Amino acid sequence: MGDKGERFIQSLRDNRNVWLFGKRVDVTNDPHFTGTLSTISALYDRNDDVQTAFLVPNSLADLEKRRAAFEAWSLATSGVMSRLSDYARSRLTGWYANREHYRQYDGQFPDKIQAFYEGAKREQRFLTVVQRDPQINRSADGSIAAEELGLLRITKKTSEGVRVSGAKMIGTSAPYSNDLIVYPLAKWGEEQKEQSSMLLVAADSPGLHMICREPFSSNAAGDHPLSARFDEMDALLIFDDVLVPWERVLLHENPDALWSIKNDKVSSGLAYHQAITRLQIKLEFAAAVANEIAETIGAAGYLHVQEKMGELLMQCQTIKALLIASEAGGQVDAYGTYIPDFSYIETARNLGAVYYPHALEVIQLIGAGGLIQTPSSVSDLHGDVSHLLQKYFKGAGTDAVTRTKLFKLAWDLTSSPLGSRHELYERYYAGDPIRNKAGQYLAHDKERWKTMVERYL
Ligand SMILES: Cc1cc2nc3c(=O)[nH]c(=O)nc-3n(C[C@H](O)[C@H](O)[C@H](O)COP(=O)(O)OP(=O)(O)OC[C@H]3O[C@@H](n4cnc5c(N)ncnc54)[C@H](O)[C@@H]3O)c2cc1C
Repeated sequence: MGDKGERFIQSLRDNRNVWLFGKRVDVTNDPHFTGTLSTISALYDRNDDVQTAFLVPNSLADLEKRRAAFEAWSLATSGVMSRLSDYARSRLTGWYANREHYRQYDGQFPDKIQAFYEGAKREQRFLTVVQRDPQINRSADGSIAAEELGLLRITKKTSEGVRVSGAKMIGTSAPYSNDLIVYPLAKWGEEQKEQSSMLLVAADSPGLHMICREPFSSNAAGDHPLSARFDEMDALLIFDDVLVPWERVLLHENPDALWSIKNDKVSSGLAYHQAITRLQIKLEFAAAVANEIAETIGAAGYLHVQEKMGELLMQCQTIKALLIASEAGGQVDAYGTYIPDFSYIETARNLGAVYYPHALEVIQLIGAGGLIQTPSSVSDLHGDVSHLLQKYFKGAGTDAVTRTKLFKLAWDLTSSPLGSRHELYERYYAGDPIRNKAGQYLAHDKERWKTMVERYL
């Protein structure tokens, strides 16, 4: 391991409270985290994205430079690792670039976010964004107390900072993050202002507990090639009277400011530009797996298989075209930041929630029973009945080991716990897909549509 990777691992040796199977664990030596941490530290050592996600784009060329770096990291993880900090770093970079806009809400915001941004960039800190409230009761019953709903809120203010209690979900990659950027998604009113803060929480803050889901990691990389390397952990964050020092309280008790933070076009534009770059690679990877399966089992000649492969190709091309359109249609804002056109990014993001599950469906429809009918391990092919297995697990012009590896990869991508998690992730990571699509429609300027129809009315 190189210096940078080693420094990253070292930064996680602190007092963080990460809970797994009911026990507090040290992520740097717990076997469930080993594969993922070695993937991240290898990426740190490559150093091609670490700084680029912090680049404030001032031109189309800058935006393209950002995309090239995101593509490199996405290709290294086949688009499967979605929260390699580049998403959160992009969000931070957007708010930082737009910092003067927030002076109207809090005169200290620009200086505070600048100090944090510069420190995070200098120290290459691993960041995670966590926004959603715990899923306790989603009814719109406004009479339920914030404490009952588990909402994160300020309970006390002292000369040192604010004390907060409550919970947040879903903290993807939180257990191995250095800092958590925490703020609400909901539009709160004045009466809920204690829930309306933007906090930069150190991962080892006393009273902060990260409750991990069941790990999907594996130490058999040959049989679970994705789970063994790319299991981004997800954790519920519980804040049990956590002190957040004032320099890390970017905004507090300010619902209007938080609504502006949530809707910030620079932050969202840069973050989703990264997310769409990654999505495009992941869709391409799924198409590549589907194609390999079709060829391996001699099914590529069937018309319906070709039609399905054509659909996967079109999905990839559509997202790529939207990405390019968002870059080409970008504009320089009042502070000199070149922001991608968000309407194309939003379309790509909303399509992703449908495209990715469809890509998995196509792999299942082409791979069929072969996805499940593999030997228990690739190593079985070298066992006592090797000559029989070599004969019956082979493909059309493909030896049994290669075919088995391919189908184990496809299973890991579509149907393993990790694969299922990814289907859920692509549906939900950007919020409720139903409300996202409805929101896109509601926000659309319909003047042109009106004009097109009015001449007939
Ligand atoms: C694997 C994974 C990783 C994630 N990682 C992160 C992360 O790192 N950081 C982060 O901040 N978030 C993350 N997200 C969380 C994501 O932001 C939420 O899942 C998403 O916003 C949807 O919210 P929810 O899961 O609470 O669903 P809910 O809001 O609980 O929705 C449940 C159901 O109720 C319906 N519903 C609820 N409220 C309403 C309403 N008001 N109107 C209409 N229908 C409603 C929904 O349509 C849905 O059918 C992740 C999600 C997943 C699945």
